[in-house]
Amino acid sequence: MEASALRVARRLTVNGVVQGVGFRPFVHRLAARLGLAGWVRNVAGTVEIHLEGDAPQMDAFESALRAEAPPIARIDDVHSIVAVADGADGFSIAASADADSARPVPPDVATCPECERELFDPANRRHRHPFITCTACGPRFTIIDSLPYDRERTSMKAFAACARCTAEYAAPEDRRYHAETLACPSCGPRVWFEGADGGGRADGDKAVLLAATALRMGAVLGVRGLGGFHLAVDATNDSAVRRLRSRKHRDAKPLAVMVRTLTQARAVARINDREAAALQSSARPIVLLRPREGAPLAPAIAPGLDRVGLMLAYSPLHHLLLHATDRPLVMTSGNLNEEPIAIGVDEGRARLRSLVDAFLLHDRDIVSRCDDSVVRVAESHDILMRRARGYAPVPIFLPAASPAPLVAVGPHLKNTFSLVRTDRAFVSPHIGDLEGIEALEHWQGAYTRYRRLFRVEPTIAVRDLHPGYLSTRIAEELGLSRVIAVQHHHAHIAAVAAEHGVTDPVVGLAFDGTGFGDDGNVWGAEVLVCDLSGYQRLAQLRYVSLPGGDLAAREPWRVAVGYEALAGWQSDAFSLAYYGIPLAQRSSVQQQVERGINAPLGSSMGRLFDAAAAVLGVRRHSSFEGQAAMELEALAGDQPAAPLPFPTYEAEGRLHLDPVPLLIALGEGRKHGVDVALLAARFHESIVEASVDLARLVAGSYGLGTVALGGGAFQNARLLSRIACRLTEARLRVLVPRELSPNDGAISYGQAAVASWLLSRE
Ligand SMILES: [Zn+2]
Ligand SMILES: [Zn+2]
Ligand SMILES: [Zn+2]
Repeated sequence: MEASALRVARRLTVNGVVQGVGFRPFVHRLAARLGLAGWVRNVAGTVEIHLEGDAPQMDAFESALRAEAPPIARIDDVHSIVAVADGADGFSIAASADADSARPVPPDVATCPECERELFDPANRRHRHPFITCTACGPRFTIIDSLPYDRERTSMKAFAACARCTAEYAAPEDRRYHAETLACPSCGPRVWFEGADGGGRADGDKAVLLAATALRMGAVLGVRGLGGFHLAVDATNDSAVRRLRSRKHRDAKPLAVMVRTLTQARAVARINDREAAALQSSARPIVLLRPREGAPLAPAIAPGLDRVGLMLAYSPLHHLLLHATDRPLVMTSGNLNEEPIAIGVDEGRARLRSLVDAFLLHDRDIVSRCDDSVVRVAESHDILMRRARGYAPVPIFLPAASPAPLVAVGPHLKNTFSLVRTDRAFVSPHIGDLEGIEALEHWQGAYTRYRRLFRVEPTIAVRDLHPGYLSTRIAEELGLSRVIAVQHHHAHIAAVAAEHGVTDPVVGLAFDGTGFGDDGNVWGAEVLVCDLSGYQRLAQLRYVSLPGGDLAAREPWRVAVGYEALAGWQSDAFSLAYYGIPLAQRSSVQQQVERGINAPLGSSMGRLFDAAAAVLGVRRHSSFEGQAAMELEALAGDQPAAPLPFPTYEAEGRLHLDPVPLLIALGEGRKHGVDVALLAARFHESIVEASVDLARLVAGSYGLGTVALGGGAFQNARLLSRIACRLTEARLRVLVPRELSPNDGAISYGQAAVASWLLSRE
């Protein structure tokens, strides 16, 4: 480039997810195209760009920087200042400048279209290579040990790049320029197949073909993937799916299905444009879709539900396997029940041997465990049901910077934890239920790894209010200088407000299964007025006895007994709830309620759904939390319906919603032969009507204009969409969970938001 009198210089700082996503090579190509000189380098978590040349070209550079950035990059902001030109010649990638600060780690990215093309191109040297990647795709978070992101700090360090790969790495015009994960058949990781007993080993392409044959014959396979093991079976083979269920001790919870292409997905499910976009996004989540009538999927995949969880292949190994089996595959977490998924080869062999007939393994280590994410496309927006692979660990901003690094340990069930440094929360992927030694070890392992990865050394812990949870013990035993407790539903609403950057008071509708209330009861349908510093509980669902405590969450008929007691044992509207329950058992539970023995009081929306399902005769026993609610939602579909009576009364200075007339109306309707699907729809509409009325009342009397919706009950798309829509019509601003799940996966972030706010004001 020739120097001219017009030559100027600019220094750009780019914040966001800009490392490990092919950003510097992209900047290099862009600068070359526009004839700009200078350099680009990673500085801590940001990218710094020095440009020299003509001003109009620099303007073009700045707009193209956002418009043409790699699809997996996330630019939060670009800061541009005038710099001194030093007559730089050409453009280069400069050495990283390390600084001690929090830095984003990129999430894993699904195989890009170009790599997929090469994978199936016989002329390409990476034809059928199960580890093909480039700067735009491949594993990131799950293989990164520490930062900065370079091959020697990932599990790719075990595979020295060959001369041809090294040449590609060093060539600016190559799309694998600075691709830390690049590999090829001669230098990359290996796959192999082995029987459950370790015998019958086959390597390479033969392994994939043997695995496909086994699957086609109905075998259950343990497949080592990106963030852990999957258990795979032929999704069109009902007896194979049943075998998987019985081995995994998973009776009814829906199983995810993987296909290779969108066309194949359309053959099994009805998919609208937004759902197609979610399926094809670089995060490749499981998307909950309506199955097509007559789709060749085994009935045992999602019994009783109107949705099937579908995802597209996201790693080259998946592409090869699905290509060879030529049918949809069930791909469910490689674990028993709710235990953490297995990741290591030996660990997988040991823990999954009894569940599988054979394994498809590889020798690239998984550093961080990461489940598949789950998305539901609702009318109003996409609901992230589980935030893990493809999303974590991208930081989520907090409205207030914390003056001290902290860890929010999260809830008891569906745990995630968050590390906080200044105004960034690094929310862990889904950890699971904190029950048992394995979950505890998994938690501690992830905590140790995250501290190193993000260079956050917490001095303060944040926990739930419940004194007895394992998460509380974890927080207390970390030995930090201070522990802050945050109420569960306050955390739910704080999470939603904080991700939207809202710090003013809002009306919060917190609807979920279980959270420990400040009066010692089980909360779960609360109307709060709150901001990040605190909350007032202005309305609740009327308390009901939950005979058996935790057992009531698995046996909806028990909750119905609690409500029948509130009805004074007078109504025969509850009779369907006890169908098939032995009389002796029923009367002992009735006594439990009357005497208040092991029958905690609860105001839970989840339990109200359970009771309604029991009263309607839909479900009396659940095999997983939320099953009854999912079935009621499936029954209701989107048919319009009028609400049933769901009155409020005032007591203890608060409004109480009384579901007894509602449940009686459901039971009587059923007795008079009203269609159960219509009754399920009327039940939903009753909750919508009552919540909207309450929210408007509270907003009006407190002069508030914003309502936040949080809690696991808002995974119900009908409930969420209808309430959001009605509140919007009433000219209220509605905040819904977008970056995080409505369910307890968001609790650690909510805890972090509250604690950061409090600490920043001390
Ligand atoms: Zn690629
Ligand atoms: Zn190579
Ligand atoms: Zn909750």
